[in-house]
Amino acid sequence: MSAGAAAVGQVRRKVRVGVLATAVTGVLALLCCVGGAAAFFLTELGGDREDPKLAGLTCDPTYQVTLTGDMPRFAEYGDGQLRNAAAIIKTGQDMKVPARGWVIALATAMQESALRNLANSRVPASLALPHEGVGADHDSVGLFQQRPGWGSVEQRMTPSYAARKFYQKMVKVPNWQQRPLSVVAQRVQVSAFPDAYAKHEELAGRIVDALAGGAARTVEIAGKAVCDAAAGARIAASGWTAPLPGGVVSGFRTDARPSHDGVDLAADKRTEIHAASAGRVLVARCDPDHSGRRDCDRDGWPDKGGCGWFVDILHAGGFITRYCHMIERPRVRPGQTVAAGEVIGLSGTSGNSSGPHLHFEVHHDSDRSSRGAENPVPFMRERGAPLTGTG
Ligand SMILES: [Zn+2]
Repeated sequence: MSAGAAAVGQVRRKVRVGVLATAVTGVLALLCCVGGAAAFFLTELGGDREDPKLAGLTCDPTYQVTLTGDMPRFAEYGDGQLRNAAAIIKTGQDMKVPARGWVIALATAMQESALRNLANSRVPASLALPHEGVGADHDSVGLFQQRPGWGSVEQRMTPSYAARKFYQKMVKVPNWQQRPLSVVAQRVQVSAFPDAYAKHEELAGRIVDALAGGAARTVEIAGKAVCDAAAGARIAASGWTAPLPGGVVSGFRTDARPSHDGVDLAADKRTEIHAASAGRVLVARCDPDHSGRRDCDRDGWPDKGGCGWFVDILHAGGFITRYCHMIERPRVRPGQTVAAGEVIGLSGTSGNSSGPHLHFEVHHDSDRSSRGAENPVPFMRERGAPLTGTG
C-alpha cells in the first residue's frame, strides 16, 4: 500500500479496496495546485515583510533539578541512573545551556554508558574509584566514555565534570540547537557509531521533562527560551509536532508536480490545524487568486491560484512553516506568539485546491519564497514528529 493510499485509507476506511485504488488516483490527480501554472501559491509573496526578530518572548526558568529525594520512575532505568541523568541536567542548567542541550547530553550518555558511571578494566586507577559498572572500550571511562584528552581519570568519572566537558564542546558546534541530535552528539563524541544516538532522543526528552518540569518542551527562539504551553506527549522533545493526523497524499516537488513546494496532508473539512512548533505568526490572511480575487470564504478550484486562507509561522532557527487552504479566517493574527500544537485554523479547500486537505510547507533561512522551501517529510521525521502515513 502506498503512503498516499494509507493516508486516504484513514479517511475513507469504509470504501472497498478496489474502489479505493480508483479513488486514490483521482484524489492525487486533483488535489491542490494541479498543472502548469508556475506561481500557484502566494500570489503576493513579499508583501508581508516583517522583522523576523522575535521580541518579548519569555520563559519561566524557575524549575531547578535536584539530585536528592525521590526520582521519577522509568522502566528502562533505575534510581542511580536517573540520579546521573539529574546530574547531567543540573550541570546544563548551571551552565545556562538551553534545554535542548540537556536532551542531547542525556541521549549521548544513554548510548555511551546506559547512564552508568563506568570504570574500565584496562584503566586500573578507574577501578579504585566509585563506579557503577566496568567497560573495556579503549581507555574510556565515565558517563560519556571520555578518553584521557578530556581530563584525569578521577575528573572523567565525576558526573558533573564529565557533563561540563560535554556541554563545553557541544555549544561550539555551529547551529547545534537546529541540527539533528545524532549530528551534534557525533561532533562532540567522534563516535564510530554516529547513528546510535538518535534512538534515545524520545526517551531522553521524556526524562528531561520528568526531571525538569517539562523543560524539554522549551525551545529557543531568537536567543530567548520560549515555553511550549501545549501539554501532552504529542510534542516531541525537539519542540515539533505534526500539524494534523492525516498522512501525505501528495509529495514535495514530485516529477508530476516539480513546483509543488510542500506536501498535501489528508484532512476533511474543519479539521483542526496545529502550529508545528512554537513561534511567531508572520502572516495570516487570504491570498488573492490569479485574478486578484480575495474570495477565500468559498471553495476554490484547480488553477484558480493562491493559497486561500493561510498562515506563515516563524520558528527557532529561522524556519518557517506554511498552512494553506483553510476554510475560514485563521484563528491567529500576525505578530501573535503561538505554542507548539496550538490550533491556528481549520482545514478547507480555499484557493488553488480541488478538495479539502492541508498544504504544508517548511522553509529555512527565514526565506518565505520557493528558494527557502524544503521537503517537510524528512524535516519532521528528524524532529521526532513524523507526518503519519509517510512510510
Ligand atoms: Zn499542495
